[in-house]
Amino acid sequence: MSDTIFTKIIAREIPADILFEDEQCLAFSDINPQAPVHFLVIPKKPIATINDIAEEDEAVVGHLHRIAAQICADKGVAEQGYRVVMNCNEYGGQTVYHIHLHVLAGKPMGWPPYQEKLKTA
Ligand code: AMP
Repeated sequence: MSDTIFTKIIAREIPADILFEDEQCLAFSDINPQAPVHFLVIPKKPIATINDIAEEDEAVVGHLHRIAAQICADKGVAEQGYRVVMNCNEYGGQTVYHIHLHVLAGKPMGWPPYQEKLKTA
Protein backbone atom coordinates (compact mmCIF):
# COMPACT_ATOMS: atom_id res chain seq x y z
CA MET A 1 0.00 0.00 0.00
CA SER A 2 1.35 3.45 -0.88
CA ASP A 3 1.77 6.15 1.71
CA THR A 4 -1.11 8.49 2.42
CA ILE A 5 -1.34 11.82 4.16
CA PHE A 6 -2.15 9.89 7.36
CA THR A 7 1.19 8.05 7.21
CA LYS A 8 2.83 11.47 7.10
CA ILE A 9 0.80 12.62 10.12
CA ILE A 10 1.87 9.50 12.07
CA ALA A 11 5.51 10.25 11.13
CA ARG A 12 5.05 13.94 12.12
CA GLU A 13 6.05 14.96 8.60
CA ILE A 14 2.96 17.15 8.42
CA PRO A 15 1.22 18.82 11.34
CA ALA A 16 -2.08 17.77 12.90
CA ASP A 17 -4.03 18.62 16.04
CA ILE A 18 -3.23 15.36 17.83
CA LEU A 19 -5.68 14.36 20.57
CA PHE A 20 -4.35 10.95 21.58
CA GLU A 21 -1.58 8.53 20.68
CA ASP A 22 -0.47 5.08 21.79
CA GLU A 23 1.46 2.21 20.19
CA GLN A 24 -1.50 1.17 18.08
CA CYS A 25 -3.35 4.31 17.08
CA LEU A 26 -3.47 8.05 16.63
CA ALA A 27 -6.42 10.44 16.98
CA PHE A 28 -6.48 13.96 15.57
CA SER A 29 -8.96 16.67 14.61
CA ASP A 30 -10.40 16.53 11.11
CA ILE A 31 -9.06 19.43 9.02
CA ASN A 32 -12.52 19.99 7.49
CA PRO A 33 -14.92 19.45 10.41
CA GLN A 34 -18.50 18.43 9.65
CA ALA A 35 -19.74 18.86 13.24
CA PRO A 36 -18.73 20.94 16.28
CA VAL A 37 -16.55 17.96 17.30
CA HIS A 38 -15.04 15.96 14.43
CA PHE A 39 -11.94 13.89 14.90
CA LEU A 40 -10.40 10.84 13.27
CA VAL A 41 -8.98 7.72 14.93
CA ILE A 42 -6.55 5.75 12.80
CA PRO A 43 -4.43 2.65 13.30
CA LYS A 44 -0.70 3.15 12.95
CA LYS A 45 -0.72 0.09 10.72
CA PRO A 46 -1.67 1.31 7.22
CA ILE A 47 -4.76 -0.70 6.25
CA ALA A 48 -6.24 0.76 3.05
CA THR A 49 -9.98 0.03 3.42
CA ILE A 50 -12.42 -1.97 5.53
CA ASN A 51 -12.12 -4.62 2.81
CA ASP A 52 -8.47 -5.06 3.75
CA ILE A 53 -8.99 -5.70 7.47
CA ALA A 54 -7.43 -9.09 8.26
CA GLU A 55 -8.24 -11.39 11.16
CA GLU A 56 -5.05 -10.22 12.85
CA ASP A 57 -6.36 -6.62 12.70
CA GLU A 58 -9.57 -7.29 14.66
CA ALA A 59 -8.07 -6.19 17.97
CA VAL A 60 -6.79 -2.87 16.66
CA VAL A 61 -10.12 -2.09 14.99
CA GLY A 62 -11.85 -2.67 18.32
CA HIS A 63 -9.22 -0.53 20.01
CA LEU A 64 -10.00 2.39 17.66
CA HIS A 65 -13.61 2.31 18.89
CA ARG A 66 -12.64 2.22 22.55
CA ILE A 67 -10.30 5.19 22.10
CA ALA A 68 -13.03 7.06 20.18
CA ALA A 69 -15.39 6.58 23.15
CA GLN A 70 -12.69 7.60 25.63
CA ILE A 71 -11.99 10.86 23.74
CA CYS A 72 -15.73 11.59 23.55
CA ALA A 73 -15.96 11.10 27.31
CA ASP A 74 -12.98 13.42 27.83
CA LYS A 75 -14.65 16.05 25.62
CA GLY A 76 -17.93 15.70 27.53
CA VAL A 77 -19.98 14.60 24.51
CA ALA A 78 -20.34 10.88 25.25
CA GLU A 79 -23.63 11.07 27.14
CA GLN A 80 -25.39 13.25 24.54
CA GLY A 81 -24.16 10.88 21.88
CA TYR A 82 -22.16 10.92 18.71
CA ARG A 83 -21.72 9.19 15.39
CA VAL A 84 -18.87 6.93 14.32
CA VAL A 85 -18.42 6.37 10.58
CA MET A 86 -15.90 4.49 8.48
CA ASN A 87 -16.26 5.16 4.75
CA CYS A 88 -15.23 2.45 2.28
CA ASN A 89 -14.16 3.03 -1.31
CA GLU A 90 -15.82 5.27 -3.89
CA TYR A 91 -19.50 4.77 -3.04
CA GLY A 92 -18.75 5.05 0.65
CA GLY A 93 -17.11 8.41 0.07
CA GLN A 94 -13.60 7.38 1.10
CA THR A 95 -10.88 9.81 0.04
CA VAL A 96 -7.92 8.75 2.20
CA TYR A 97 -6.98 5.10 1.77
CA HIS A 98 -5.83 4.42 5.33
CA ILE A 99 -8.78 3.31 7.46
CA HIS A 100 -10.07 5.85 9.95
CA LEU A 101 -13.03 6.27 12.23
CA HIS A 102 -14.78 9.60 11.81
CA VAL A 103 -16.18 10.66 15.17
CA LEU A 104 -18.81 13.41 14.93
CA ALA A 105 -20.44 15.03 17.94
CA GLY A 106 -21.84 18.22 19.40
CA LYS A 107 -25.09 18.37 17.42
CA PRO A 108 -27.92 15.96 16.59
CA MET A 109 -27.12 13.84 13.54
CA GLY A 110 -29.61 13.28 10.75
CA TRP A 111 -30.54 9.93 9.26
CA PRO A 112 -30.31 8.72 6.55
CA PRO A 113 -26.87 10.20 5.93
CA TYR A 114 -27.39 10.85 2.21
CA GLN A 115 -29.51 13.54 0.55
CA GLU A 116 -30.62 12.04 -2.74
CA LYS A 117 -33.61 9.76 -3.01
CA LEU A 118 -32.77 6.21 -3.97
CA LYS A 119 -33.42 5.73 -7.68
CA THR A 120 -35.81 2.97 -8.58
CA ALA A 121 -35.31 1.28 -11.93
P1 AMP B 1 -12.73 9.99 4.05
O1 AMP B 1 -13.33 10.85 2.98
O2 AMP B 1 -13.69 9.16 4.80
O3 AMP B 1 -11.56 9.18 3.49
O4 AMP B 1 -12.16 11.00 5.14
C1 AMP B 1 -10.92 11.62 5.05
C2 AMP B 1 -10.95 12.74 6.04
O5 AMP B 1 -9.62 13.17 6.26
C3 AMP B 1 -11.74 13.97 5.58
O6 AMP B 1 -12.79 14.25 6.51
C4 AMP B 1 -10.70 15.08 5.55
O7 AMP B 1 -11.20 16.33 5.95
C5 AMP B 1 -9.64 14.54 6.50
N1 AMP B 1 -8.30 15.04 6.27
C6 AMP B 1 -7.63 15.08 5.10
N2 AMP B 1 -6.40 15.59 5.28
C7 AMP B 1 -6.29 15.88 6.59
C8 AMP B 1 -5.26 16.43 7.41
N3 AMP B 1 -4.07 16.81 6.90
N4 AMP B 1 -5.50 16.58 8.73
C9 AMP B 1 -6.68 16.22 9.26
N5 AMP B 1 -7.69 15.68 8.55
C10 AMP B 1 -7.50 15.51 7.23
